[in-house]
Amino acid sequence: MSVFNLDNQNASLDNKIVAGLERLSQVFRILLWEKAKEYSLSPIQIQLLIFIQHHSKEKTTISYLAQEFNFTKPTISDAIKVLEQKKLIKKYTDNTDTRSYSIQLTIEGGKIVTQTENYANPLTTIIAKANEKDKVVLWQNISTLIIKLNKLEVISVQRTCFNCKHYANQNKIHICNLLNQKLDTKDIRIDCMDFEYS
Ligand code: SF4
Repeated sequence: MSVFNLDNQNASLDNKIVAGLERLSQVFRILLWEKAKEYSLSPIQIQLLIFIQHHSKEKTTISYLAQEFNFTKPTISDAIKVLEQKKLIKKYTDNTDTRSYSIQLTIEGGKIVTQTENYANPLTTIIAKANEKDKVVLWQNISTLIIKLNKLEVISVQRTCFNCKHYANQNKIHICNLLNQKLDTKDIRIDCMDFEYS
């Protein structure tokens, strides 16, 4: 039963929620395309620059990036090749394995990130105006949806508390043993720099 069949969609709240999420997913694509056109880059090239800027070098290998963005390694390699030709990134060879390298931004690459990473701001502005209680409910639903999609292997890499070795659930209370603190719903992370696989 398709949620895009309007009879099905409008007869069911479940279907309307899924159709609504599909509509929301278009927002990122549209906003990213606007930036991509402005800087003569593709959307994935901008996403790669932003990701590289904000993650450690172990996460900037071709393999990791391919998994992160759900693309094949040759597709990511091609995008990286263009970014290198445009002098926006540099490759650093691994001393222990010369076939492998990590990727860092050049000063120019960093400038592009500063100018493009706010592409989701129209959405941030709307969320910022919602009341705190609604935001917590929204975050709980989004973070739960993400972890369920990860378990179904629809979303690949997830550096979220629920997959982390430092996470514990004690009598339904979320705990981070690394930060040594209770995690309220609003504290649950979906991309944590201290994340380690459990
Ligand atoms: S280290 Fe980060 S991801 Fe892991 S439980 Fe703590 S806050 Fe969550």
